[in-house]
Amino acid sequence: MIEDIRARLEALKQAGLYRVRKEAQSPCATQVLVDGRQMLAFNSNDYLGLASDPRIVEALQEGASLYGVGSGASHLISGHSKAHAQLEDRLAEFMSAHIESARALYFCTGYMANLAVITSLVELNKGEAEVFSETLNHASIIDAVRLSKSACTVYPHCDHAKLRELLRASASSNKIVVTDSVFSMDGDIAPLVELIRVCEEECAWLVIDDAHGFGVLGARGRGALEHFNIRSSRVIYMGTLGKAAGVAGAFLCADEYLIDWIVQKARSYIYTTAAPPACAHALLTSLDLIGGEVGASKRKHLSEITQLFKSEIGRHSRDWKLLPSQTPIQPLVIGTNARVLAASKALEEQGLWVSAIRAPTVPEGSARLRVTFSAAHTINQVEQLLGGLKAIPI
Ligand SMILES: *Cc1c(COP(=O)(O)O)cnc(C)c1O
Repeated sequence: MIEDIRARLEALKQAGLYRVRKEAQSPCATQVLVDGRQMLAFNSNDYLGLASDPRIVEALQEGASLYGVGSGASHLISGHSKAHAQLEDRLAEFMSAHIESARALYFCTGYMANLAVITSLVELNKGEAEVFSETLNHASIIDAVRLSKSACTVYPHCDHAKLRELLRASASSNKIVVTDSVFSMDGDIAPLVELIRVCEEECAWLVIDDAHGFGVLGARGRGALEHFNIRSSRVIYMGTLGKAAGVAGAFLCADEYLIDWIVQKARSYIYTTAAPPACAHALLTSLDLIGGEVGASKRKHLSEITQLFKSEIGRHSRDWKLLPSQTPIQPLVIGTNARVLAASKALEEQGLWVSAIRAPTVPEGSARLRVTFSAAHTINQVEQLLGGLKAIPI
């Protein structure tokens, strides 16, 4: 049996699909010590550079002094602490301009939050449920739909007209539309205004996964809903707290009764140990930074360097394709696995750490370098990346 596994691993290597983990020996930042070498990194989702912010580090230490390290149990047994409750209140208030009767629920990870929301909505009327899932949705949404055992229809990328047709044709009395707001491997933004209109007219829920929008989009960092100036009771919002917020975990925000239903029903909420309260405590500081002056100036700089990269990379006459993204996710589609691995390796030799993304994360033949920017990158560092990309021999 082990021989068989070894042969399969070897086949993955031959196909350019074998994955290795590099070891970061310093905090998540733009300069990282990786496997003993200093690298300039363009591959984290730490969009605001908060993952090693001393103010949040201090808040985490304070949280550990106040609450210890572990929560000791799940939320419904004895693991729900004052820090979790405070964070949920703050998150609900943070999103209150965009969601009516908002209540928030903190999760250990976004993956678990997605499992929770989809399975609980399906559970409202199980035999009748149908999920309408956008084709480029994150793996955690795909897994959530599988776990819910609901019927599922996949609709084409950003195609709200087609979605409307599919909703109209469906006999389901429990229609659930789910979409990423910012597509994690392409960087473009879903047409949420149109999607909400369609969901209102066709009487469907709309679940929005704002993993890459929360903290980044909107003048005050409220994410995709602020970006589009949306306020709706139809929306169930999922934001993650390990990306722009720099810590860990995720939250759902929706109408208070729906959140209560999720607390009663979601197995990925009920049957897991609550996240360390110190993380929740640290996130209070993170929210202060995101929503205040610090966040505003970080978002401004992030947008400036993203625009700089877009305009400069457009001048390179190379046969890669820059996708039409306005967000800090700037993928360069290179094509085959072999080519993208060669590109990533050539960058690595220049001390630049950019990740190669291959199938099944993205469709076969569209392997890409996924460049991501952080507000902590300087203009000079972006210029180093541009120089490095110019020099790669592919
Ligand atoms: C990262 C991500 C998740 C999962 O969030 P975690 O907190 O990392 O588990 C969910 N959806 C999208 C679109 C993501 O990019």
